[in-house]
Amino acid sequence: MKEVILCKYGEVILKGANRSDFEAKMLKQLRQRARRVGNFNVFYSQSTVYVVPQDEESCEKIDEMMYQAKHVFGFVGVSKAITCEKNMDVILETVKNHIPERIKGAKTFKVESKRSDKRFPLKSPEISNLVGGAILSCVPKIKVDVHNPDVIVRVEIREHEAFIHAGQEKGAGGIPYGSSGRGLLLLSGGIDSPVAGFMMAKRGVQLEAIHFESYPYTSERAKEKVLSLAKILTNYTMRMRVHVVSLTEIQELLRDNCEEEYFTLLLRRYMMAISLKIAKDYDCEAIITGESLGQVASQTMKAINVTNALADIPVYRPLIGMDKEEIISISRKIGAYETSVLPYEDCCTVFTPRHPRTRPELDKVIEQEQRLDFNRLVEEAYKSKETIVVKCFGDNKTEE
Ligand code: ATP
Ligand code: MG
Repeated sequence: MKEVILCKYGEVILKGANRSDFEAKMLKQLRQRARRVGNFNVFYSQSTVYVVPQDEESCEKIDEMMYQAKHVFGFVGVSKAITCEKNMDVILETVKNHIPERIKGAKTFKVESKRSDKRFPLKSPEISNLVGGAILSCVPKIKVDVHNPDVIVRVEIREHEAFIHAGQEKGAGGIPYGSSGRGLLLLSGGIDSPVAGFMMAKRGVQLEAIHFESYPYTSERAKEKVLSLAKILTNYTMRMRVHVVSLTEIQELLRDNCEEEYFTLLLRRYMMAISLKIAKDYDCEAIITGESLGQVASQTMKAINVTNALADIPVYRPLIGMDKEEIISISRKIGAYETSVLPYEDCCTVFTPRHPRTRPELDKVIEQEQRLDFNRLVEEAYKSKETIVVKCFGDNKTEE
């Protein structure tokens, strides 16, 4: 049995004149991944992208390739199809031999046939009838339901071969990675920020990440955890730079010189200022955070305004209107949750005020801020940055 992978475009098909740029990106990304897995031919034909193994060894790696294809943004459905000769007897034989195990557990099904090769002697409804009959004859108790089937079996008569597949898996959706410009993700070790990064990456934003640490108040293991989260995101993005910046000195100075109730807000303004500088260096057109309105004291409307006041580029907060439950479900889906909940400290939880300001006035915050040399501290922290390149395939590397 020979199998190939079929990838279906999502909203890219709605694009106008620049559709081909989007498609080119998706094909390139799929090809890069395919090269890592084995020897596959990746090509576009009749609104589907095909990933076809070129040797025995690559045939064995079809599931690994499926996994990769499901992480390329822009494809909404990915399926593993069996290929066979374009002959109705052979098609029926293949269906009987392989489809029952692929639709295990389904109580109802429907067959959809498509005949792109109009020279094929049977029309689509006739193909569907015959294939449906074959399934009914070899899968006990299964019924046809054309309106709401548990599974759809698809038969496609293409140029050179026939494809038979059942149960399309969900693709990553969205639009191709890198088609919307670059953004700088503020990546903490929590649940929210990796989800925020994923959501913007899905809308085509190429991610750079910045992480703030406060060693020795935060540990080496906390940093490793953040790099693990970045690695999980690279399942989708392939690679990502993580800039690690130390806030230790700033936090100690805040503790010693400013009023406790303003600590978090002041710290967040430093984070914003340093992020803006790094965003400029790396041509990022937006900052991305995992803030969700009202989740904690620093995420009330007023508190968000205090940090936002510094920003001279847009700040995207894709989770702003989401509940924790909804965020967690995406976190699980992208495989980040188990890592996010590991109990390591974050710089935002070091020296947290007992009674943080929830309705801060900007002028009061600035008054506190002026007790220190804000610009100098931003500059020094910025210079301390260490950049680590995290890759989906291969080990992390520190960039000079
Ligand atoms: P998360 O679950 O992402 O840690 P949170 O609910 O804990 O978020 P905060 O700690 O207030 O919320 O952080 C809000 C946002 O600020 C985070 O989603 C992240 O984008 C950014 N942030 C917080 N701490 C850090 C950090 N140490 N380094 C980089 N960004 C951070
Ligand atoms: Mg956090």
